[in-house]
Amino acid sequence: MRYSQILVPTVKEVPADAEIPSHQLMIRAGLIRKVASGTYTYLPLGWRTLRKIMQIVREEMDRAGAQEIMVPCLQPRELWQQTGRDADYGETMCRLQDRHGRWNVLGPTAEEVFTFHASAEINSYKQLPINLYQISPKFRDEFRPRFGVLRSREFMMKDAYSFDADEESLHESYMAMYNAYCRVFQRCGVEYVIVEAETGEMGGSGSHQFTVPCESGEDTTVYTEDGAYAANLEKAAVDPLAKQTADGEIPTPENVHTPNVGTIEAVCGFLKTQPAEMIKTLIYACDDDVLAVLIRGDHELNPEKLTQVLGGVAADLADEATIEKVTGAKVGFAGPVGLADRVSKLIVDHAVAALSVGVTGANQADYHTKNVVPGRDFPLEGDNIVVADVRNAVQGDTYQGKPLLFKRGIEVGQVFKLGTKYSRKLGATFLDENGVDTPCLMGCYGIGINRIMASAIELYHDKNGIVWPISIAPFEVLITPVNQDDETIAQTAETIYNQLTEAGVEVLLDDRSLRGGVKFKDADLIGIPIRVTVGKKSVAEGNVEVKLRTDKDSAKTPIEGAAQTVLELIQSLKSNLEK
Ligand code: ATP
Ligand code: MG
Repeated sequence: MRYSQILVPTVKEVPADAEIPSHQLMIRAGLIRKVASGTYTYLPLGWRTLRKIMQIVREEMDRAGAQEIMVPCLQPRELWQQTGRDADYGETMCRLQDRHGRWNVLGPTAEEVFTFHASAEINSYKQLPINLYQISPKFRDEFRPRFGVLRSREFMMKDAYSFDADEESLHESYMAMYNAYCRVFQRCGVEYVIVEAETGEMGGSGSHQFTVPCESGEDTTVYTEDGAYAANLEKAAVDPLAKQTADGEIPTPENVHTPNVGTIEAVCGFLKTQPAEMIKTLIYACDDDVLAVLIRGDHELNPEKLTQVLGGVAADLADEATIEKVTGAKVGFAGPVGLADRVSKLIVDHAVAALSVGVTGANQADYHTKNVVPGRDFPLEGDNIVVADVRNAVQGDTYQGKPLLFKRGIEVGQVFKLGTKYSRKLGATFLDENGVDTPCLMGCYGIGINRIMASAIELYHDKNGIVWPISIAPFEVLITPVNQDDETIAQTAETIYNQLTEAGVEVLLDDRSLRGGVKFKDADLIGIPIRVTVGKKSVAEGNVEVKLRTDKDSAKTPIEGAAQTVLELIQSLKSNLEK
């Protein structure tokens, strides 16, 4: 491809909403352009990279025995109502009515449609196991689209769905995908970590997330230094804290007037105490039940852990009227003393149970209670009392005695064991060896194609631009004739271009009549891994210069052998990724 003929609109300035390096560089290097909030067009260089990632994913899915199909993005809302996910997805799902008044959704994922097909096409255990996948656009009306293509409203996802007859076979299908994912990220050249994850609203029994470690990621990975444990923040377990011992006898609880102090910090300032000595009382509603959850003032509730404690049912924060009814006070003054009898369940976080004494809301407007002793002033045992781990891990926590460390990352893929949640609801059953109608055991496996692209840039860039891994670079080689108007230079560049193109290499020839400096700037920005510079001086000596984007210096190579040298370089860069 000739630079003069390809649309690569590199720019100096980036819009203010481009906060992170990958977003800025994708715009500066002319890979993408924004159409509207969270929707992007991929220009030729961007699309070439995206296609390469899709091809690697496709090859690894096929190698693992999955079969590619294509299902519609436009899906009947009814299917989503049958599984209950029309409600679960809430406003994140794009819905639209057709001209006949029928409701459709633009698929945010495709469990429902794949299960619908399984239900029609799979009848016998003889057809199992089977794994079907697609690579297609997905739509999510994200509350806050940001970070360019990392959190967009339309994005490319590879989604695969496995159907198995029993647990053992499901585990094999799951591990085949898990291993295929390792190969995908390895081949794309992106560093990754695998962490245990919660299954969330997907349902199911097990999940792993593939995360690219980098500062601009929105996910937090929690791990122990020896690598024995790694989970995402939603899942990360913590050891219970040691029970604090009180200095002497704690006086009985005392209500204190705390007018005009709303936040934990304000209360602490007023009462001269610390957030770690405060007990927050959160009121939740779950079906018809009202629950109270106690969390230390400096901790955050973990909704996923709460869902686990409730046996897989998600609870929502109660509305104002419910809170006032249960606590007898306006919002902001709930406290555990006397509350256990007024709620269906009192869930006490381990760290609260470990306190020797704390400060809480008084269930009375503008009052807090001091000298509250867990176990003395509110119960830690009883039919409706649960003491559990329901908070996020924080610095200082341990797991199995080892300190927990924290690292930010970008979730690029996730694998789930789904079990029978979808197959039961949509009737995806098969006759087993004994002729018994049995629901398929399912797994689902997603990869964010665009996120791989952005993560690679997050990981590999410098102040001048992108530094692509060769496997996903838009071109493998860039040939830069320093002066296109010089006949010898142009001719030499053209010859090497032809030799490499014939050898099957993806080459970009910068045939623009621009100053060398401008071309070099663009070269660094678009980040092609190998650059062949054809300059006056070296050509006069019978040489060209070959340089890796990762290197500072170039090496002189005789013109005749240049194509061969480049081919060998490509081989060695590629084989590094295949290891
Ligand atoms: P997140 O927690 O980041 O919102 P998710 O867990 O909801 O993502 P999944 O349903 O597991 O995402 O989707 C599979 C993959 O699709 C994710 O691992 C991610 O790489 C990608 N993905 C999800 N949402 C987006 C988005 N808004 N923009 C780009 N890629 C996305
Ligand atoms: Mg996910």
